[in-house]
Amino acid sequence: MFQLFSYFSFLLFCFLFLSRPSFPARTTPDTTTVLTANTLNATWQEFSRFLDVGIGTQASGMSELKRYFHRFGYLSLSATDNLTDVFDTQLQSAVIAYQTNLGLPVTGKLDSDTMSLIMSPRCGVTDATGATTKALHVTKHFTYFYGKPRWVRGSPMRLTYAFSPDNMIDYISNAEMGEVFKRAFSRWAEVIPVNFTQGEEYENADIKIGFYHGDHGDGQPFDGVLGVLGHGFSPENGRLHLDAAETWTVDFAAVKSRVAVDLESVATHEIGHVLGLGHSVVQEAVMFPSLNPRTKKVELKVDDVEGVQALYGSNPNFKLSSLEESENSSNEAVGLNLRSPISKWTVGVLVVALVLCT
Ligand SMILES: [Zn+2]
Ligand SMILES: [Zn+2]
Repeated sequence: MFQLFSYFSFLLFCFLFLSRPSFPARTTPDTTTVLTANTLNATWQEFSRFLDVGIGTQASGMSELKRYFHRFGYLSLSATDNLTDVFDTQLQSAVIAYQTNLGLPVTGKLDSDTMSLIMSPRCGVTDATGATTKALHVTKHFTYFYGKPRWVRGSPMRLTYAFSPDNMIDYISNAEMGEVFKRAFSRWAEVIPVNFTQGEEYENADIKIGFYHGDHGDGQPFDGVLGVLGHGFSPENGRLHLDAAETWTVDFAAVKSRVAVDLESVATHEIGHVLGLGHSVVQEAVMFPSLNPRTKKVELKVDDVEGVQALYGSNPNFKLSSLEESENSSNEAVGLNLRSPISKWTVGVLVVALVLCT
């Protein structure tokens, strides 16, 4: 009986653990919840106080959340708008647009999935709202900048990139930095007929890469540790900027910081912008706007490839079908892994049995 009780206790624990919401339930919006999860960024962490706050509610600091939605393209504001701390209908519309655009369940509420993504570190480039909301049957989820700009060069296209001589970080060597960007550029070069070569002359390079602190003169200031990680400008601007305040890393085994950000992942994403891609709704895509610390996401997905190939055509050596096949088979594998050996329903029945036994 004792063994049976232990078994049930274990299952009860599993049930409670599996049922646990991502964030603690909140009843009052005015107190601050201190989040201990190490994937949350410092800059937007305070938004956690708005979890489950409903329309019509006034909550201190809500205006900052409105500024966040404005910054990333979900809430239009005029210069005279006086932002209030009330969850109003405009904010609700912004939440709905955000959820729709980023593939979340569309609830119009600040639920845990939505808050989790809002607080995740992300790219500073504005999301292209409306691009993915026009139909439920959209199968492609990549987007472009307004006017669909692309680089126009002779064929074969060759673009040069160079690092700023004055705006770099000192804890990653030039050689290592060069290798990271070489790999990041080559992922795109594998799928489109464009060659990227590192040039010596920064001023004359097509793509100019640098690390910057705070306000650095392009109207898109960085914000310190986490929050915005970087941004890339649309063609043919060529600027690719990374937030110098991040703990950039090329090897998580060597860097223990909980806020370490994978340089190659962000570089690959920002190169996508430099080539003309906007943000994708596909969470697995390189062009999805968010990236948690200590996470590596460098492999282009079918969505990224189809998006960039629509701008530049396909590299003749690249076979999209083989990428599609590998993506489908890995999706199936993930689907199998997600299937828990004991369903919540089964655990629920066992918990009822436990109650009846005692
Ligand atoms: Zn981006
Ligand atoms: Zn910049």
